[in-house]
Amino acid sequence: PSKFASVESAPPIEVFALNKAYVEDTFPQKVNLGVGAYRTDEGKPWVLPVVRHMEQKLAADETLNKEYLPVLGYEPLASAATRMLLGSDSASLKEGRATGIQCLSGTGALRVGAEFLAHIGKHSIVYSSNPTWGNHSLVFLNAGFTSYRSYRYWDAAKKALDFDGLMEDLRNAPENSVIILHACAHNPTGVDPTQDQWRQIADLIEERRLFPFFDSAYQGFASGDLDRDAWAVRYFDSRGFEMVCAQSFAKNFGLYNERVGNLTFVAKDRSVIEPVRSQITLLVRANYSNPPNHGARIVGTVLNDPVLTEQWKSHIKTMADRIISMRLGLRERLEKLETPGTWNHITDQIGMFSFTGLGPLAVDKLIADHHIYLLKGGRINMCGLNTGNIDYVAKCIHEVVT
Ligand code: PLP
Repeated sequence: PSKFASVESAPPIEVFALNKAYVEDTFPQKVNLGVGAYRTDEGKPWVLPVVRHMEQKLAADETLNKEYLPVLGYEPLASAATRMLLGSDSASLKEGRATGIQCLSGTGALRVGAEFLAHIGKHSIVYSSNPTWGNHSLVFLNAGFTSYRSYRYWDAAKKALDFDGLMEDLRNAPENSVIILHACAHNPTGVDPTQDQWRQIADLIEERRLFPFFDSAYQGFASGDLDRDAWAVRYFDSRGFEMVCAQSFAKNFGLYNERVGNLTFVAKDRSVIEPVRSQITLLVRANYSNPPNHGARIVGTVLNDPVLTEQWKSHIKTMADRIISMRLGLRERLEKLETPGTWNHITDQIGMFSFTGLGPLAVDKLIADHHIYLLKGGRINMCGLNTGNIDYVAKCIHEVVT
């Protein structure tokens, strides 16, 4: 018998299983509101024009070669990503207490950060919001954390943040617990704390000696404004917290499959930066040796060139504005149809996702009867909506909840 005969099949990953079902569906009006990627109003993926431009330039540049990048990546990317996150006025940056490490998109940055924290031995418990992006628990447990816990986040009755629940759960977290915080555009709810709530969260994290780990997958993509979307991270930075932040360039550069990311590390004292970088060097070396170059060079070049950066900013504005207009459009239609319930949360939420508040029965009906694919929890990707299908989606939502 095989040595592997006792291996049991792992459960499917919901979002990929949903996507497969969508692809196999032959109904002409089918709608995919599942997978987290941008779509144009024609329902197509979008390669940003500034990315196309860079790819043509890179392909034509015969001085470039395929030598390895350093273990910690392409320095112009890592430093520009760290600056984009913390802002050029950041005291930690100016004082040399902050550093960036190129990683394999947001997931890879989470993994390197988690492994590093687990490795130094002080951290074994991690908290993330309930609900959260489905991969947090898997990443942190595989990285060596021994306990994954949730803090309350979504109040289903109010379709809003359960701030009291969140604070109570963080207050009860043991010292040194790592607290994953979505930097902006919380996935899956689209609900972020207000600035005043962030201040209270920061007070509590400081008082209870917890460790903030930001996950920034949507900077610029959420509101169209890089500074606005970085407010929470910069606020923690301005208060002198030690923290890490995983950054993804999948959404805001549309570089999903190129795996461009950065891990920003902020310390109280610049003297720890070199030892930390040297430890992370060993950790990365043992994982994948060094990161890929292509996407890093695109993002690194754009972020270091003011003209290209302006072009890119206009692209993120295009994406953010289209999403915001779809939010308005969906809410308007549901209110016009007098669909039972309140729908203001659709426009109050921010980013790629909306937590519709649709229950499991309604979700099942949307998929089975109307060929509209969304996650079981009721999350929809706003980018899956467009002027061609929004009437159909609103009508079907109306039908399944009436
Ligand atoms: N974190 C959150 C909250 C996300 O929503 C995502 C992507 O969906 C990621 C991290 C990481 O994505 P990637 O590894 O593709 O950059």
